[in-house]
Amino acid sequence: MIYPNLVLKSGRDRAISNRHPWIFSGAVKNVDNIAEEGDIVAVADNQKNILGYGFYAPDNQICCRMFEWGSVSQDLGAEEYWFQKLQAAQKLRHVLLKGQKTTAYRLVHAEGDFMPGIIIDIYGEIAVLQLLVKGTLQLKKILQKCLQELGFQYIYLKTKSSKGVASLQAESEWLSERPELPANVFEHGLTFPVNVEEGQKTGFFIDQRENRRLLQKLSAGKEVLNTFSYTGGFSLYALAGGATAVTSVDISKSAISLCEATIAQSNFSDRHTTVVADCFEFMRSNTHVYDIIVVDPPAFAKHARAVRNASRGYKDLNMLAIKAVRSGGLVMTYSCSQNIDKLLFQKIVFSAAADAGRNVRIVKQLHQPEDHPINIFHPEGEYLKGLLLYVE
Ligand code: SAH
Repeated sequence: MIYPNLVLKSGRDRAISNRHPWIFSGAVKNVDNIAEEGDIVAVADNQKNILGYGFYAPDNQICCRMFEWGSVSQDLGAEEYWFQKLQAAQKLRHVLLKGQKTTAYRLVHAEGDFMPGIIIDIYGEIAVLQLLVKGTLQLKKILQKCLQELGFQYIYLKTKSSKGVASLQAESEWLSERPELPANVFEHGLTFPVNVEEGQKTGFFIDQRENRRLLQKLSAGKEVLNTFSYTGGFSLYALAGGATAVTSVDISKSAISLCEATIAQSNFSDRHTTVVADCFEFMRSNTHVYDIIVVDPPAFAKHARAVRNASRGYKDLNMLAIKAVRSGGLVMTYSCSQNIDKLLFQKIVFSAAADAGRNVRIVKQLHQPEDHPINIFHPEGEYLKGLLLYVE
């Protein structure tokens, strides 16, 4: 197959030769004028050697996202090509989840699976598809067929509202018949009802699965505060681990009502309390102390310009949490902002500990789980970082 060419400026091909998947508009010398937004383009160096292929997005700062390297003769828009890619992603998940009673997992993690702009989360028989660049939106029918062939009965296309890419005007829609919702899924044997239509992200925060399991192991006999609880992921694990009392706090009423239903379904309601509140206000006014506090806020720094304010938010929250644990207690704290890296997050938590005036040690560094792989050539894919703090 022949694709329109995108030619890089001389000396600007190094990152691409090193398989970084993003091409910034400043690195581009010229593009064949037949290329339109969403087209697959062949990326070439200044000598016209083909380096690979990507989705073209002329109005974006990242004007091409690459999904294939080297010169190939295959039809890259064909079902067969994408089916092989999805099959490879599924193979990895089979290896990772083998023997687990887990039916909620991420099948495709965009650049982490060499499929930029594509996120696919699995909830039992439901596959939730997010298509984040126009080139991937044009693959909607093909991906739908591939997912059916891989055995998923229900397929939901969910539009990510916060992305704000003007040309992406897809509506959320079922690409199959609609299942009954919420659907029950398993994570390490625990049952969670998930509403893929109404929930945040694709319905559930799959990326905290392994960290929630760690909390389960630490919770026996403990009093736990779960801030930014959403539908109670951490809360259910803490209760299953033998926590004496768990309080879930979230600003969203609908998240808290699904949280209550989740805990009730596992018969743990007698040890569980919910609060609908702003967590900053709750933490400032609450005088109770806990053995373990989980702090898992939404991404405060959605873009680089927001890092300063976001850092302040993370610092305040962590200071409040560090102050509100008993001596010998734990704070499990996270940031899912891509723009705040591990080191900066640790510095923020350092300031929080200093202001709280307590002795704090990092006893574990926490990450996104295995089904959210980080392409080694695309370190930006590492977005979830956390610290387990021991507070004296
Ligand atoms: N820990 C959760 C995921 C948290 S997502 C899990 O494991 O499933 C972040 C949550 O923070 C969302 O549910 C959102 O409703 C909530 N939120 C956002 N801002 C908030 C605020 N200021 N106070 C309380 N909750 C907030």
